[in-house]
Amino acid sequence: MGDRSGGASALLGMEGFVVLAMERHDDEWWLLVETEADVAGCPTCGVRAIGHGRTVVQIRDLPMAGVAVRLVWRKRRWRCGDPDCERRTFSEQSPLVDEGCLTRRARAEICRRVGQEGHSVASVARAFGVGWSSAMAAVRDHGLPLVEARALGAVEALGVDEHKMLAAGPRRRTTYCTQLVDLDSGRLLDVVPGRSARSVTDWLEDRGEVFCRGVAVAAIDPHAGYARAIRATLPRATLTVDPFHVVKLANGALDDVRRRVQRETLGHRGRKDDPLFGIRRLLTRGFERLSDRQEARLAAGLRWGDPFDEVGMALVAKEELRAMYATATREPLDDFYALAARSGVPEVARLARTVARWEDPILAFFDTGRSNAHSEAANLITEKLRRIAHGLRNFDNYRLRLLLHSGVQWDTPTIARIRGRHPRLVA
Ligand SMILES: [Zn+2]
Repeated sequence: MGDRSGGASALLGMEGFVVLAMERHDDEWWLLVETEADVAGCPTCGVRAIGHGRTVVQIRDLPMAGVAVRLVWRKRRWRCGDPDCERRTFSEQSPLVDEGCLTRRARAEICRRVGQEGHSVASVARAFGVGWSSAMAAVRDHGLPLVEARALGAVEALGVDEHKMLAAGPRRRTTYCTQLVDLDSGRLLDVVPGRSARSVTDWLEDRGEVFCRGVAVAAIDPHAGYARAIRATLPRATLTVDPFHVVKLANGALDDVRRRVQRETLGHRGRKDDPLFGIRRLLTRGFERLSDRQEARLAAGLRWGDPFDEVGMALVAKEELRAMYATATREPLDDFYALAARSGVPEVARLARTVARWEDPILAFFDTGRSNAHSEAANLITEKLRRIAHGLRNFDNYRLRLLLHSGVQWDTPTIARIRGRHPRLVA
């Protein structure tokens, strides 16, 4: 296609630009483009400029049906018509293209794919034919204003959870941060570095008194620091440790017992054919959700792998705690304490001490009039977010990605315009 194709120009959809040629090079479309502008005024003095040749710049635009697009823009150079003007030459500009190697709309779309759709920066960078840092810069430039403009509004039920940002490696310790969630809407409110009382109080104090007085329920990870922060900053809120966190504690103890018994009986870490290793996921699943076959497998695994019934005891302890929520009564909790006391399983005894220490906030859950569903919704967000921002090392990028995905409204006019005007994106 070598002519000034109106069809190709319409497909490009960049006002004022025409496509001169279009060619497939390996995995990319190359589009030779120029603008229709044939007059220009000098930006300094306004005198009509004289053509001064062309220069070529290469920029990336929206992919076409999944294929990266390189625009080869034959940019006009101009010379000021006034010989006395200090501005001698200049090249043409377009509002559709700002600094850098991407068109404006490509930057907006990169940000949307990473933010709203949750794709990795690397995969979106590949789709647009740019490097990781160009794509991340687009996410930042376009996304930060969205994040800064978001309004938190009033929050009645606040979730405060520890979040592992980056696992420990040979040269670093595990990096934690704290996420704050509106438990009613499931919206991520913010992510702050660290998991101390200070992390939470600083954030709450920045929100102001009206916000703090509006919070009626605060559901936290059972950390002393979080509890201190809530009591100091949200005097009217009921402090609770919600069901999800209690069950998580119990499952943690259960996993610890399973790994220890595995080591003590077989002398090595779990392998594929080891009886306990084979049932590790069935152990932590809700017992009532097991099929008959899975229940039989679980029983067999315990029969062959758990000679002193220690894993079994930890399993029952976890199920007693779950029963407390299923029946909304205290009785299973007392059964849990009794079981822990006579079990002789150190991990279960430790779990019971933790539960006893947090008993008031745990039982307060039943006074908040909230359901388990809220707690599970908050957890689903956590899990989803963990996948999305996996591996990001820079806290600001990490926070931005999480907030773009779960903290901002994406129905902005800009995005609607991009999608509406560009049939290529829909295809
Ligand atoms: Zn001039």
